[in-house]
Amino acid sequence: MTITDIGSQVFSATVGGVDFPTASTFDVINPATRQMFAKAPAVRPDQLDAVFAAASVAFETWKRDEATRMAFMLDAAEAIEANAEHLAQVLTAEQGKPLGDARGEIGRSIAWLRYFATLDVPREIIRDDEQAFQEVVRRPMGVVAAITPWNVPITLAMWKIAPALRAGNTMVVKPSPYTPLTTLELARILRGVLPNGVLNVVTGPDPLGAALVSHPVPRKVSFTGSTAVGRKVAVAAAGDLKRVTLELGGNDPAILLHDIDVARVAPMLFWGSFMNNGQVCLAAKRIYVHTDVHDELAEALAEIAKTVRVDDGTVEGVQLGPLNNKPQFDRVKMLVEDAVGQGATALSGGRALDREGYFFAPTILTGVSDGVKVVDEEQFGPVMPLIPFDDEADVIERANRSQYGLTASVWSADVEHAFDLAGRIDSGQVSINVHGGGVLPTLPFGGHKASGVGVENGPWGLHSFTELQVIAGPPRPKA
Ligand code: NAD
Repeated sequence: MTITDIGSQVFSATVGGVDFPTASTFDVINPATRQMFAKAPAVRPDQLDAVFAAASVAFETWKRDEATRMAFMLDAAEAIEANAEHLAQVLTAEQGKPLGDARGEIGRSIAWLRYFATLDVPREIIRDDEQAFQEVVRRPMGVVAAITPWNVPITLAMWKIAPALRAGNTMVVKPSPYTPLTTLELARILRGVLPNGVLNVVTGPDPLGAALVSHPVPRKVSFTGSTAVGRKVAVAAAGDLKRVTLELGGNDPAILLHDIDVARVAPMLFWGSFMNNGQVCLAAKRIYVHTDVHDELAEALAEIAKTVRVDDGTVEGVQLGPLNNKPQFDRVKMLVEDAVGQGATALSGGRALDREGYFFAPTILTGVSDGVKVVDEEQFGPVMPLIPFDDEADVIERANRSQYGLTASVWSADVEHAFDLAGRIDSGQVSINVHGGGVLPTLPFGGHKASGVGVENGPWGLHSFTELQVIAGPPRPKA
């Protein structure tokens, strides 16, 4: 399928299991060319009453029976699998990532859906004797509003859709205006597979996101995006005490001790930082390297960066595509220029590629320190700043000296020592000798401090889409 084929398709919102009419559309850009290639439906905020009404009606039936929900969700996983290649191609077209990575993203979303489809929602009997019966149950909340970013749109949507539906809620999902199409297609594929109104997807330029949050119907908002917008969501949701899960920004440190095996570590660290062009909330974004191995590691990383194939995501063998959008591209350029202006050296890259599209050469920066923007702020792009250190206590303190606390990694030949240091880092996950090693359906993912509120994934993620209810009374007659 070519980009022209994708662009000639009519994309529509799904509400109540059918096309939702919209008066206008907005442009979707191919980041590899900067050209508009498709149009997405622009749902207006004043249309949300109808959208949430469809989800509310569906909730009355969907909430009733767990076994039915599980069966529907497994059918949904099969339907997505049958359309995985189409979804991957649409994803590459709008997001820019290599087709192989897009296929991986769709595959992970199917795995997440299957995991949650069969995950138990426990009913806990606390007391059952001659005097009393006491039970704690987890009830669905109602309609959930989900808002997602442009970097990993389908996996991150599925981190919300799968547990929310499993718990018995219905949903309205709004993807980023930069990547609306794949989520629209996901909902279209699931028409007739899930009952009407269980999964609704709307797209449109902001302020549609804010309108979702302030709408009176949803009882919970599950948001993934920047910390700045996350704060606004928290404030808006507080008005009527909606529950929130906020998965926000990160400035994740990787700490490499003096005893690492540079040749082995360099490629793993490189991809822990440059996956999806660095446009990953948990990418390694500040690299603290012991001075004993700093120069050797920097050279090894720069060698990898120089040989990585950066191209249009549809090209065979491509490893990194373009950045997704102009504001992000401009920001990465600004951060690199600022660092170089303050004395940093770009051992590789340091510049945009001389071609159409938001392409930026993978950049390894040395001669930077805390206090420079590219170290202190979330770059969310293909730029890795290396900061030397000598003192372990000091580096832990510097790693923790951030408003963020999403993930981190510690690398050492002395695994026990690495575990010890890991426990001193204030973040939602810390991996040893790998970066992002804890991102699995079974483990909680969420940020400390300004990186978020609550967690996704595992039973903890599932529980966050439920309300606890105690049922307490006299002894129950035994059967
Ligand atoms: P963003 O905050 O600009 O937008 C995220 C979503 O919020 C979009 O769908 C947008 O349309 C919507 N939105 C904008 N204003 C809104 C408002 N006032 N109320 C409600 N919704 C609104 O983020 P982005 O640029 O799309 O994504 C990049 C950011 O996301 C980075 O900071 C990254 O670290 C973060 N992120 C976090 C995680 C995580 O799990 N912690 C995962 C991926 C990305």
